[in-house]
Amino acid sequence: MDAYDLIVIGTGPAGEKAAVKAAYFGYRVAVIEKAPHYGGAGVHTGTLPSKTLKETALYYSGKYEKGLYGIDRELSKETSISDFMHRKDYIIQSENESVRNNLLIHKVDIYHGIATFMDATHIHIRGLKEQIIEGKNIIIATGSYPSRPKEIPFDNKRIHDSDTILDIKHFPKSICIIGAGVIGCEYATIFSTMGTKVFLINRNDKILTFIDQEIIQIFLKQIKRDGVDLLLNKSIKSIEVPRVKEDPLHIELDTGEILHVDMFLFAAGRNGNTKELQVEKLGVEVDEKRETIKVNERYQTAVPNIYAVGDVIGFPALANTSMDQGRVAVSHIFNTGDLEQIAQVIPYGIYTVPEISTAGISEEDAQKQKLSYNVGIARHADMARGKIMGAKDGMLKLIFTNEDRVIRGVHIIGHLATELIHHGVGLIESKRTLNDVISKMYNFPTLHDLYKYAAYDGLGNLSGHKIKK
Ligand SMILES: Cc1cc2nc3c(=O)[nH]c(=O)nc-3n(C[C@H](O)[C@H](O)[C@H](O)COP(=O)(O)OP(=O)(O)OC[C@H]3O[C@@H](n4cnc5c(N)ncnc54)[C@H](O)[C@@H]3O)c2cc1C
Repeated sequence: MDAYDLIVIGTGPAGEKAAVKAAYFGYRVAVIEKAPHYGGAGVHTGTLPSKTLKETALYYSGKYEKGLYGIDRELSKETSISDFMHRKDYIIQSENESVRNNLLIHKVDIYHGIATFMDATHIHIRGLKEQIIEGKNIIIATGSYPSRPKEIPFDNKRIHDSDTILDIKHFPKSICIIGAGVIGCEYATIFSTMGTKVFLINRNDKILTFIDQEIIQIFLKQIKRDGVDLLLNKSIKSIEVPRVKEDPLHIELDTGEILHVDMFLFAAGRNGNTKELQVEKLGVEVDEKRETIKVNERYQTAVPNIYAVGDVIGFPALANTSMDQGRVAVSHIFNTGDLEQIAQVIPYGIYTVPEISTAGISEEDAQKQKLSYNVGIARHADMARGKIMGAKDGMLKLIFTNEDRVIRGVHIIGHLATELIHHGVGLIESKRTLNDVISKMYNFPTLHDLYKYAAYDGLGNLSGHKIKK
């Protein structure tokens, strides 16, 4: 039987980075992957495919250039679904290879099959070959799967979850999406950018509540303009699939409203991949509803040599946090001394059209914490670089505390928001003030100027005009 210093279960962002880091530090490492490919949801069904489809939608719709030189390039109606999917498939294939090569270069042994715990150090692998391997330490990085409520008749043709939507064979003329969370909003704007009529349904009266709601109001205005009908405080009662496949789906909402649409996407909630592991029998705590694993701040479960990282432990369930959780777990297991915890200020990127990115506290948070705070705002359209890019909408908002002018939150909507945010993360982390931002030198013309103008706006607000308490 092969024996390892570390066995990692799963090759998604969390598992890959954990395995490679331990191997880099000279330990004997194995990964077990049940899929025939590498990279998990990060590469195959989640992060990268949806981001590529967004870029593709922008490319085909000509939205990046809309308004530039007075030309509005209209969406080519001839764009075929295979054209649309082509780049996504290429990126998946290319990143799949990158993950595989990364594991091989670092001499990580790869096993294919379903991993199940026999005891705290032995894993049974059910693949083409049945095998048992031994590990002094084990990291569970098995990710999550989209929830599929029983009452929804998923057929993977017209009624989809966020995995199967990537295999559609035609563009829907209209689509109903349940769940206006990050995934639902991203797909809503990808489809609307491609000219699809979108109904986005949300159970509550607010969406994306972890983001500053002023930014969300701007977002809502823009997506409405782009053909997304957001239906708040609603959920679905039933879906009828017609016998004739050309006929629309008949969707009844709990309010009695009826929607006739081509396609349906359920994008509300994911559960941890824990069933096959049978790890509860060892004393590892698994949440019954969410199927997620409970860990401490070192990502250690109740069984000391078993760790869990990434989506399988639940919130925030992002690729960036998953990767670093994997690296942090390895630091603790082998005492590598390089990374004791993941960053305290996490950037959240929402790859909608328009993009949103956020770090630190929102205005709502500041109010809840009863901070004496103020804001400063700058708009893409007022920046020289913004004009060159043809950016009509878009805004950066700084939130700072009045007494010290320290920046506590940065919120961006519009072009390059997910790139621009990292400067903001640095400002929040190092407790920089408005004056620090004003004294910084940026390239000109760049969108980073947004920071400087928002800082000046903040100082103006602070000087007495619009103080917020
Ligand atoms: C539509 C969508 C968009 C997203 N967009 C973003 C984004 O823009 N930015 C971002 O940061 N995050 C995004 N995410 C989230 C991101 O994809 C996940 O947080 C990330 O993939 C989690 O990584 P992981 O390694 O924990 O799990 P996964 O990537 O899910 O990998 C888990 C791996 O474990 C394997 N496995 C499971 N069970 C077993 C078993 N018993 N034996 C062997 N192998 C097993 C699976 O086959 C899989 O390969 C998105 C997710 C979705 C669904």
